[in-house]
Amino acid sequence: MRDVVVAGGGPVGLFLAAELALGGASVLVLERDEEATSPWKALPLGLRGLSAGSAETFYRRGLLDAVISASHADPAKVGAAPEAIEAPDPRAVSHFAGMGLDAADIDVVSLPLRLPSPAMEGFMTSLEAVTAVMAERATALGVEILRGRPVTALTQDDEHVTVTAGGQEFQARYLVGCDGGRSTVRGLAGFGFAGTDPLFTGYVAQVTFADPDQLSPGFNLTPNGMYLRTPFEGHVGMMDFDGGTFDRSRPLTREHLQEVLRRITGTDVTLTDVHRASSFTDRAMQATTYREGRVLLAGDAAHIHSPLGGQGLNLGIGDAVNLGWKLAATVRGTAPEGLLDTYTSERHPVGAAVLDWSRAQVATMKPGPNAPALRKLVHELLSTTDGTTFAYRRTSGLFNRYDLGNAHPLVGSTAPDFHFEDGVRLGDLLRQGQGVLLDFGADDALQRAARSWEGRIQYVAGRPRNDLGFTAVLVRPDGVVAWASGESLDPGTFEQVAAHWFASARN
Ligand SMILES: Cc1cc2nc3c(=O)[nH]c(=O)nc-3n(C[C@H](O)[C@H](O)[C@H](O)COP(=O)(O)OP(=O)(O)OC[C@H]3O[C@@H](n4cnc5c(N)ncnc54)[C@H](O)[C@@H]3O)c2cc1C
Repeated sequence: MRDVVVAGGGPVGLFLAAELALGGASVLVLERDEEATSPWKALPLGLRGLSAGSAETFYRRGLLDAVISASHADPAKVGAAPEAIEAPDPRAVSHFAGMGLDAADIDVVSLPLRLPSPAMEGFMTSLEAVTAVMAERATALGVEILRGRPVTALTQDDEHVTVTAGGQEFQARYLVGCDGGRSTVRGLAGFGFAGTDPLFTGYVAQVTFADPDQLSPGFNLTPNGMYLRTPFEGHVGMMDFDGGTFDRSRPLTREHLQEVLRRITGTDVTLTDVHRASSFTDRAMQATTYREGRVLLAGDAAHIHSPLGGQGLNLGIGDAVNLGWKLAATVRGTAPEGLLDTYTSERHPVGAAVLDWSRAQVATMKPGPNAPALRKLVHELLSTTDGTTFAYRRTSGLFNRYDLGNAHPLVGSTAPDFHFEDGVRLGDLLRQGQGVLLDFGADDALQRAARSWEGRIQYVAGRPRNDLGFTAVLVRPDGVVAWASGESLDPGTFEQVAAHWFASARN
């Protein structure tokens, strides 16, 4: 019997599996598809933007270079335009309903408690690049990945979960559904799933145009919807404000796609061939809790929304890094009471905020008399320093702050990349997935106290190049600050906080 079965070997499932294994859990991934690669994961259809927050997460596990190099290897392989995945201006990776953020308008000085790090910026990648790197990483850590095993049934009792996949039964102490937006696990385990109905049907396709010059490059809002042409030949996206009424079980014919594209673009553009096409909507739904007994959800299985602004994968990676160490400690028996439930209490509000961000974008794009006024207003706000900085804070993934019961802005935030005189950075110290206690004052009492959590918290004494006014900082395995001490802080003691997150010293 495994500690954890992960249903779904997409980017989130594989990232989570690696995190669990790093934390000492035995893990089996059951993936529906036989093949690890598909044209839907490769460029251009698999093109995805990763935020600075995701880049930071990969960096802290020593995976950033591998993901970037896999991302850049991709276009050469498929013969696509390499400029398409050259990272655009770092802070322009995100946008609000097509309105790009101007990096020059970000008030960097006002961004709290950040230090330079090798992961300051988001970048463009592909699903294929991320899943290939994560499958290799998970396998190296001892995770077993079985492909061609769609999960079709599950039961749970007080001790385990039994999962049926590909006609076989598998038992584990916990199951995590990372099986995407139409999650079977979510349905079988009876999770509530609530949210808002769609306003549009979206399409993404790889086509051959008879007359591509009729279409403009980039993001184009028209009186009838939106179309997007990426630098990849024949790669097109559309948003058709049909109230989400298109029957998505119907095959996507050339005639239908051409009719929608002509209507949206107001041209008589002709599609001579459709190589691949799929549809999506802006239905924005979220599981009401991320845990039902021994079954948990992460990634698109826990939340769906429109791809506008490129947030879903980033949100899912954030779920996985938050859940991994908590669930691993739970199965190892070292978790304090209630640790696993902090997964929902921390990640659900972050998911809800992304859903709202996505809904707000759609509201400014809806054809009709009102949206243009709203859009003009948002554009004016985003053209100010405060507006751009606000949007950057909302989308970069670096400024989500969990409420850990301490009002200090550092506590609950992702830790700055403290950089020691000897060249070691916090990012290097987090690679093993343990907590890290940074002691800038070489305090003997703190060092003695930290010994009680040996194996769970790594104690590091040294002088950082910039300590931002702190004398000591306790960082959780997911890179979030749990405790800090410094002049204006009333943090409680290190021992209290360490016990809260890492269980009692004697456990
Ligand atoms: C057009 C488009 C553009 C996007 N652009 C961006 C972007 O730029 N940035 C961003 O952050 N996000 C973006 N997203 C969203 C992003 O792709 C998803 O949020 C992300 O892929 C979710 O990862 P996941 O692992 O949770 O789910 P998925 O990627 O859906 O993976 C789920 C896995 O589970 C498997 N599976 C399904 N059912 C079962 C089952 N019953 N049993 C076992 N396995 C199963 C599937 O085969 C799959 O491998 C975009 C989405 C779309 C549609």
